[in-house]
Amino acid sequence: MSFEYYYITVVSLVIFVVALLIGIIMNNKYYRVIKESLTQVREAELKGPSAIGGDVEVLTCPRCGYSKTIPYRLGDYVGKVVDETCPNDGERLVVHAIYSSRPAEQSL
Ligand SMILES: [Zn+2]
Repeated sequence: MSFEYYYITVVSLVIFVVALLIGIIMNNKYYRVIKESLTQVREAELKGPSAIGGDVEVLTCPRCGYSKTIPYRLGDYVGKVVDETCPNDGERLVVHAIYSSRPAEQSL
C-alpha cells in the first residue's frame, strides 16, 4: 500500500467525520427551529382563535356615532364599554359588533 492510498483514506475519513458533525449540528439547529415554531403555534392556539384568525370588533361612540375597527381582544363582548375614548367628545366607546374578517371558505 503506497502513501497515496493511505493519504486518500485519511482525507476521506476526515471529510466523512466533518460531514457527520455538520449533519449533527444542522439537525440540532433544525430541531430547535422546528421546536420553536411548534411552541409558537401552541402559544397561538392557547391565546384562542382570535390570535390566529382575523376577528375584529367595531367600537362606536354612543354620543356622536364615531366608529373604529380594532382587532378582537379576548374578553370583549357586544355592548361592553371599553377604555378607548372618542376623539371627538371624549365619550367612552362601546363594542358595537364583533365579526370575523377571514374569507368565508376558511371560517366554514
Ligand atoms: Zn363621540
